[in-house]
Amino acid sequence: MARWAYVNGRYLPHRQAAVHVEDRGFQFADGVYEVVSLLDGRFADMDGHMERLGRSLTELRMPWPVSPRTLEMIARELVRRNGIMNGSVYIQVTRGVAPRDFKFPADAKPTLVLTAKRVTAFAKPEQLEKGVSVITVPDIRWGRCDIKTVGLLAPVLAKQQAAESGAYEAWMIDADGLVTEGSSSNAWIVTGEGRVVTRPPSNRILNGITRLSLLRLAAARGLPVEERSFTVAEALAAREAFLSSAGTFAMPVTRIDGKPVGDGKPGPVTMALRQAYLDYVAGHGTGSMAETPA
Ligand code: PLP
Repeated sequence: MARWAYVNGRYLPHRQAAVHVEDRGFQFADGVYEVVSLLDGRFADMDGHMERLGRSLTELRMPWPVSPRTLEMIARELVRRNGIMNGSVYIQVTRGVAPRDFKFPADAKPTLVLTAKRVTAFAKPEQLEKGVSVITVPDIRWGRCDIKTVGLLAPVLAKQQAAESGAYEAWMIDADGLVTEGSSSNAWIVTGEGRVVTRPPSNRILNGITRLSLLRLAAARGLPVEERSFTVAEALAAREAFLSSAGTFAMPVTRIDGKPVGDGKPGPVTMALRQAYLDYVAGHGTGSMAETPA
């Protein structure tokens, strides 16, 4: 089946989809994005992703290229044209095309690009059976990690280092020795006392939409939740560790820098939260604030 993309009002064959060389996304990484998973034809947490896109746009003083509702319709039409039931949609908005000048252009129209990708398995069986490994790297990113910008060079370097080390993800460590988050995911532990711990939102992390849903689902199940920072030593001594993102949901982390987390096996809390998220999407695909039964 032909692959389609969307660029500024037009659905185009993926091969022909392009933006101008003076697009500010290309010149300055002056743009923001979202990734939304599609499971059995339902968008996961679409409302939450639209809300965060609005926040990113506001923080960078960019207008919506189209209304959030229209954007959702474009996303839906794109997956329909691509014949995708399970996959992900990538949405990117930049400040537009203008002669290269650092200052905001006076009259540029935002660029809107959407691409869709089929996913045959969101996780490989062995990743769920054995968990994945992470390495740790210094967090060298800028001071506004709360904005989901396309300026992703530090995560690119971190992910490359992880790949070269045979690891799935890199957890970034701040100057105080605390885990900020993964290069493209949030970081979690489950303590010996069964407390679910993840770093609180601030300008040091991206407040994951999956993170927010998992926090809500954990609380709805009566799990004690603590939003606080933790060290690598605490993660290694924890009962479980996991990471979360739109594409991984909750993924067990069983090794950090080659050392086992807890007993080195995926834990029951992680796997229950992963299932809770999948159930939530199956029942309440677009309503991120929808209450899920405990
Ligand atoms: N943290 C970072 C740095 C990310 O890039 C991502 C996702 O790409 C996340 C966290 C997870 O966010 P979400 O759950 O909204 O995908």
